[in-house]
Amino acid sequence: MEPTSHVRGLTCRECRRAYPVSPAHVCEFCFGPLEVDYHYEAIQKVVTRDRIVAGPPSIWRYRDLLPLDGEPPVGHHVGFTPLVRARTLADALGLRDVPRE
Ligand SMILES: [Zn+2]
Repeated sequence: MEPTSHVRGLTCRECRRAYPVSPAHVCEFCFGPLEVDYHYEAIQKVVTRDRIVAGPPSIWRYRDLLPLDGEPPVGHHVGFTPLVRARTLADALGLRDVPRE
């Protein structure tokens, strides 16, 4: 996988304070949520639907959109967990036969 440079950093949605890319998700000053600040012009030149579809069957097909530089140390097979087809959510969770008190 190629290293990504499409992420400039993180920005607080509330006060617009800028942060470097890090595992933070909340602004230290106003507790607003941090959003990824993408380099949209660079993304537009590289990321296409075909490129995503041709990627591996894991979260790494979205690599160009993830705030990660370098190779991921773990989680190479994360994502694409098959969904269980169920008639109803209660059936899937086994809640239908729970007796009422
Ligand atoms: Zn903030």
